[in-house]
Amino acid sequence: MEQPVGSNVIIKRDKDQILGYLEDASNLEEGNADILYIPETEEEVKEAVCECAKKKVPLTVSAGGTGTVGSRIARDGAILSVERLNKILSIDKENKRAVLQSGVIISDFLAALAQQDLFYPPFPTERTAFIGGNLATNASGEYSYYFGPTRNYVKRIKVLLSTGKFLEIKRGEIFADKEGIIRIDELSVKIPSYTSPQIKNAAGYFSKPRMDLIDLFIGSEGTLGVITEAEVEIIDDLQSRFIMVIFLPDEQRLLEFVSEIKNNSDLKPVSLEYFDKNSLDFLRSDFQSIPDSSTAAIYIEEEEGENTLDIWLNLLDKYEVIDTWISQNKKRYQELIDFRHKLPEKVRDYFKEIKSHKIALDIAVPDNSFKELFYFYKHALANRNIKFVLYGHIGENHLHLNLFPRNAKEKTIVNGICNEAVHKAVEIGGTVSAEHGIGKIKHKYLEVMYGRKGVLEMARLKKTLDPYCILGLDNIFPRELL
Ligand SMILES: Cc1cc2nc3c(=O)[nH]c(=O)nc-3n(C[C@H](O)[C@H](O)[C@H](O)COP(=O)(O)OP(=O)(O)OC[C@H]3O[C@@H](n4cnc5c(N)ncnc54)[C@H](O)[C@@H]3O)c2cc1C
Repeated sequence: MEQPVGSNVIIKRDKDQILGYLEDASNLEEGNADILYIPETEEEVKEAVCECAKKKVPLTVSAGGTGTVGSRIARDGAILSVERLNKILSIDKENKRAVLQSGVIISDFLAALAQQDLFYPPFPTERTAFIGGNLATNASGEYSYYFGPTRNYVKRIKVLLSTGKFLEIKRGEIFADKEGIIRIDELSVKIPSYTSPQIKNAAGYFSKPRMDLIDLFIGSEGTLGVITEAEVEIIDDLQSRFIMVIFLPDEQRLLEFVSEIKNNSDLKPVSLEYFDKNSLDFLRSDFQSIPDSSTAAIYIEEEEGENTLDIWLNLLDKYEVIDTWISQNKKRYQELIDFRHKLPEKVRDYFKEIKSHKIALDIAVPDNSFKELFYFYKHALANRNIKFVLYGHIGENHLHLNLFPRNAKEKTIVNGICNEAVHKAVEIGGTVSAEHGIGKIKHKYLEVMYGRKGVLEMARLKKTLDPYCILGLDNIFPRELL
């Protein structure tokens, strides 16, 4: 039942209508909420937030629902969906800026930009995500090897605190002082004492000496405020690109090949991705020409240049690759894009099929530690008879390990492998989440990374900005710490 209240906020209380908002790609099944607000304006967002604050009702912000760690899944209280805040307010081609409401769907944004030969690089593979969700998770996608994460593109945000106060935060205006305090009018926010690793990272609140306030909200997983609007940097549309999927005979070769690509200044791929043998097997029913003898593949995408393809072809000769698929035309280009996109989609669907919540790691490490992590995974998983796929953004030393245990015994083994991997990653300077965030699934991993002290500092920071302690509860750390 839809029920406009006060102004035009749609309110739903019928459990059946709320159900769809209690899901995301994590398959967590612990969602519950009594009320769903669907505002259309910022004033209506404020109305909903203030109502919850007054009654101290937990409030979870919901966007595209493509998150993989359960962060939009409320456990109780209310949900605020930003789906009707879906207007692209302006696209300024000359100054390369776009202003969007937070509920704009990424595919709509990309389509609007394409009409003006413009592009927004840091979107995630799953384009039904919203721009607000991307900011709240600091998303990055297939082009992040070259272009980096969402954080790099956000110039201004408008965010509503649970106190009912709107903050308009421009990049470059408000910084932490040397004591680590950020002053926002009468508020003094103490940033955590840890420094976030200088690698692809989406674990916990961003923190570094003299940091910019805007970076605190990016990646804060709906725990600090409701982002209603964002101004982002856009770029000219990319030139025509070609894709190659390169099938290799062994993984030692593969690592040498990747290292050579990264060190060759004539090559500038926008994507550099890895697929292990299990990933190729997972995809085989859709792409039957995947060679049987291949144990790994590399996917690259690069802008067409005068000699670029020749440089690649010479390199392929050197590495005696098993087979190479090249996008010679638009149709083939699209097929190879589908090859890249299909795997995370199939993984999402497979977890659903086996009725498991998502069990996955998205660890990234510094360049010089990658081999160690890679072989750690290989050894930890060898001869365990556990079904898994390992793939992803090898250019940024960031792989997705998805594990599919079939019974309780396998679950115990998998938990052990994940714990060991997380400790290993932290030991060698890595992050426990490069892309997907912590949500409700990875609290204990975050504690390995920043220690109890770091997590308590995050909780304290949250209490300063969300004094009613209602926003995004149980995301990043458990609510008991508040
Ligand atoms: C097949 C598949 C592929 C994927 N590929 C990638 C990838 O390549 N890279 C990547 O980074 N991620 C990827 N993801 C994960 C996911 O797409 C991203 O995390 C995405 O940014 C989530 O956006 P969303 O709109 O779906 O947010 P939701 O899942 O709805 O919410 C995510 C979090 O953001 C908060 N939030 C949302 N909107 C706001 C707002 N306006 N204000 C405050 N908080 C808010 C929510 O409360 C929640 O904590 C993939 C997921 C799938 C299923």
